[in-house]
Amino acid sequence: MTLTAGPRTPTAVHEELVARHSAHNYHPLPVVVAEAEGAWVTDVEGRRYLDFLAGYSALNFGHRHPALVAAAHRQLDRVTLTSRAFGNDQLGPFCAELAELVGKQMVLPMNTGAEAVESGLKVARKWGYERKGVPVDRARIVVMDGGFHGRTTTIVGFSTDPVARTGFGPFTPGFDVVPYGDAAAVAEAITPDTVAVLLEPIQGEAGVLVPPAGYLAAVREVCDAAGVLMVADEVQSGLGRTGHVLATHAAGVDADVYLLGKALGGGILPVSAVVADEAVLGVLAPGQHGSTFGGNPLACAVGRAVVRLLADGEVLRAARENGALLHARLRELTGLPGRSGVVAVRGTGLWAGIDVDPRLATGRQVCEELAARGVLAKDTHGSTIRFSPPLVVTPAEIGAACDALAAVLTDLGRV
Ligand code: PLP
Repeated sequence: MTLTAGPRTPTAVHEELVARHSAHNYHPLPVVVAEAEGAWVTDVEGRRYLDFLAGYSALNFGHRHPALVAAAHRQLDRVTLTSRAFGNDQLGPFCAELAELVGKQMVLPMNTGAEAVESGLKVARKWGYERKGVPVDRARIVVMDGGFHGRTTTIVGFSTDPVARTGFGPFTPGFDVVPYGDAAAVAEAITPDTVAVLLEPIQGEAGVLVPPAGYLAAVREVCDAAGVLMVADEVQSGLGRTGHVLATHAAGVDADVYLLGKALGGGILPVSAVVADEAVLGVLAPGQHGSTFGGNPLACAVGRAVVRLLADGEVLRAARENGALLHARLRELTGLPGRSGVVAVRGTGLWAGIDVDPRLATGRQVCEELAARGVLAKDTHGSTIRFSPPLVVTPAEIGAACDALAAVLTDLGRV
């Protein structure tokens, strides 16, 4: 007797292909997206979901924002790639406009966030040798426990997450890890060979950890006193996520170097950048660093449109207003033991880390149940989930997602 399997769903067909032919370095929710617009995605079976992850902030302006898609289309019809062997007419304006938005003089264009971080580390070391006089090959950089900066070998080498590190050594030396949120620990870790302090102004992957008030200002003072660069990785926190262009600026602090990525590509293509003054980025000479794709005209045209959206201010104002609404709604879910299941909510702007009672469910389970109710979010570290909707989300959509979370937790509490 032969058993005949029933017809497979389109989702199952896609998942099987991915399981067979794509490296197993992700464990995605069982949702296969076919189309998207604004804060919404549609899967291969026609189901619609509110996207409350927004590509880990790569989709800050939502899916296929009309101004960004139009900029990409215009550039697609002109020239898309030149390499940096030649100039292109988008590179200069992009660098000038982004530098002005951030309040610095120069931009080093790259592609992914990890590349921006790697480039920032190289620049900081070179600055240390050439401008600070650190003896050759002795440069050290202070980094934070729980930080996330990407997946390259140097970066995972100073990660404190065993899953990210294990099996990938030997690692690049020269990093000193200190607890996040403790400026005194930064001061203690600095030696005469220290060239930079690298931090996220809010730790995203760690669960949207907001440091104590005054922390960034205190680190700024420590860096000034020791003559080391303060390098802010704003790949996830920057470009509108907190309702401000930069989370560091929102705290009243100006870092020496900003690392940007994700939203800089408008949700269309990878675009990242190191942004700093000439005194820092000026250490690079031809041949010492580069990227075939970095600064390509398509990336620059989209990046310019992103800068225009942020400079206009409207999207930031909406993010601040709707962020306050999101946090007010989430706070209603905390502090109701036995009813709510939410232990703590952190974050700012349209960015929230939500700790669920681990006795109730894992973050993964909550995200699966949320997806079943039409809301996409992502867990991190056990029982924490993250809400980071596109900045174009409406108050009604925020209400719907929070209602779905409340319903999921109520149902889980009944089990
Ligand atoms: N830096 C931070 C703060 C991030 O959150 C991320 C990605 O999540 C990265 C760097 C790496 O970016 P990418 O995945 O584009 O390499």
